[in-house]
Amino acid sequence: MGHAPRRDSELLRPSRVYYHTFGCKANQYDTERMRQEAEARGSDTVSSWSEADVCVVNTCTVTNQADADARRFIRRLNREVPGVRVVVAGCSAALRAGDYRTMDGVTAVVEGQDPVAVSAAVTSRPVLLELRSSLDRIDTEPVGGELLRRRAGASRGWLKVQDGCDRKCSFCATRLARGPARSRSPEEVVAEARVLSTAHPELVVTGIHIGHYGRDLDPPWTLARLVALLLERVPGVRFRLGSVEATEVDDDLLGVLAGAGGWLARHLHMPLQSGSDPVLRRMRRWHTREQYRRRVLEIVDRVGDMGLGADIITGFPGETDEDHASTRALVEELPFTYLHVFPFSPRDGTVAADLDHPVPQRVAGERSRELRDLARAKGAAYRAGRAGQGARVVVEGRGATALTGDYLRVDVPRPCPDGTSPALRDGILGSRRGHLYIAWPRRLPSN
Ligand code: SF4
Repeated sequence: MGHAPRRDSELLRPSRVYYHTFGCKANQYDTERMRQEAEARGSDTVSSWSEADVCVVNTCTVTNQADADARRFIRRLNREVPGVRVVVAGCSAALRAGDYRTMDGVTAVVEGQDPVAVSAAVTSRPVLLELRSSLDRIDTEPVGGELLRRRAGASRGWLKVQDGCDRKCSFCATRLARGPARSRSPEEVVAEARVLSTAHPELVVTGIHIGHYGRDLDPPWTLARLVALLLERVPGVRFRLGSVEATEVDDDLLGVLAGAGGWLARHLHMPLQSGSDPVLRRMRRWHTREQYRRRVLEIVDRVGDMGLGADIITGFPGETDEDHASTRALVEELPFTYLHVFPFSPRDGTVAADLDHPVPQRVAGERSRELRDLARAKGAAYRAGRAGQGARVVVEGRGATALTGDYLRVDVPRPCPDGTSPALRDGILGSRRGHLYIAWPRRLPSN
């Protein structure tokens, strides 16, 4: 009886929207574009799902588990926020739209990342929408002529320079979901970096395969040229490269990194996946163990001490004890400061999901633990060596931690005397019970 008037008033007020993102930085960037577009159409963003009329779930499909996590999250939303409208978008929605359409509470499925389609779904009446985003236009054009202005609630901003990937790694579904590599124009990237720089002292150059930036442009561009342009045109901001393949850190990019005086963070995250050639071949990676090894040693030789990370998959089908030992030996040799190690988890529809000789989960898990322990020890040694040295940091979150150029997250025991606004701050690293912290130099008298 009392429901009809309440619905009418609901139609008059803007939707209150809660956003939840699974997956990588590129996905987080996409969510910000969706949020900005929906806010431009009059919706309000809320920080708790219990206050929301609509929840946008931006999904990831890197493994079957990632798909299952998104479905579990939507079921939980339905239980905890009865009546909420759920808009599903992102990579998993692109490949498994049918799975989501039949779920309770789902009122729209956007097969991809199109922010205009998501905002239309957010602000439309609760009917089932089927919006297919065109892979050709996703995020290669500014939203409604606008650029992303900020990443809500974060000190560091994400600057997405391309989408998609032309490689064919046998375990990867991201490529299937995101389509071929498509670069934004250098002018558009610089324009967006300028806008984002008013809110973020550090910008992370991100995408799905940034090492191929510009190959599809006419005339072609390179990542090295793009980064050099950003450093020149957007001064006072620290840039950081997102994940980039070791074999695609060419001499030009290395020259920019070595000569940027810290304005391009001394940090590279270069996926390795395996340190064994037979496994790399089955993964359909294009590089050998030795090519990766040689490039990393050349980079460190030229740049010096730096943050160095990698992704590794253990227990890939057919991985033997010898293969694992080869990966372990490479990890021991190279100066990694951290690793992201995961046991292999198949993703339906990929070549790897159908490979013979699966490795038992227990074995894959043990190999992961072993490599993580090794990475932890290497990281601790690197951190210990940094104590007493200077660092330029970005203070994060509520001011309790900060991030150095070489990707060390350190404690902030005392607020910076120069204030709390997001900015790059110089300090000295100290060490207490194995934890690094940043100490601020005394402020000098102004005269
Ligand atoms: S390089 Fe390989 S793992 Fe990375 S996005 Fe492309 S296909 Fe996937």
